[in-house]
Amino acid sequence: MPARRGGYSNFGIKREVATFRMIRYFIATFKSTTMQKTLVLIKPDAVERGLVGEITGRMEGKGLTLVGMKMIQLDDAMLKEHYAHLADKPFFPGIAGFMKSTPVVVQCWEGVEAVEVVRLMVGVTNARAAAPGTIRGDLAMSIQSNLVHASDSLETAQVEVPRFFKAGEVLSYKRSAFEYMYAPDEKSM
Ligand code: ADP
Repeated sequence: MPARRGGYSNFGIKREVATFRMIRYFIATFKSTTMQKTLVLIKPDAVERGLVGEITGRMEGKGLTLVGMKMIQLDDAMLKEHYAHLADKPFFPGIAGFMKSTPVVVQCWEGVEAVEVVRLMVGVTNARAAAPGTIRGDLAMSIQSNLVHASDSLETAQVEVPRFFKAGEVLSYKRSAFEYMYAPDEKSM
């Protein structure tokens, strides 16, 4: 009898493990095919150095879709909100002065897992340490003047896109090339 009870309980555990694996598989599948929007700011150093086209071209070439773009002048209120996590750092006044020194280009990019894709393309904060192949790694030498801001998570992107774009400024359209950029099971539009 104990063997049989053991048998039943083993079966129960196996079933739970299988159910857990199935749930994890569906979550992973759903996450990996999620169409996301992310925010990019092309900073004053890129504007001054004539790198707006190069940076935009990299995102386009990757296969991301540009769904919003404009040029704006940042002010103290916007910067305090946008860089709230750095407001008490000694270098904050420096960043604020830098970010106001010319207009910036604000973009919203869309694609499967776009938030992580863009962060990987941008590279780490300190451009001197950023990997070759990334925007910062290839084109910048500074911690502060590192060319681009990109949303660091989906939650952040969902706050940052509406921070910079009013309703109607982010557009919705499907490029015909879309069919060539993803396998059928990778896209969910
Ligand atoms: P990231 O832009 O890589 O997400 P953070 O959110 O930490 O990095 O910082 C925002 C911006 O503040 C950076 O992109 C950079 O321009 C500036 N910054 C961050 N750390 C420093 C620092 N130690 N000295 C000067 N500027 C900094």
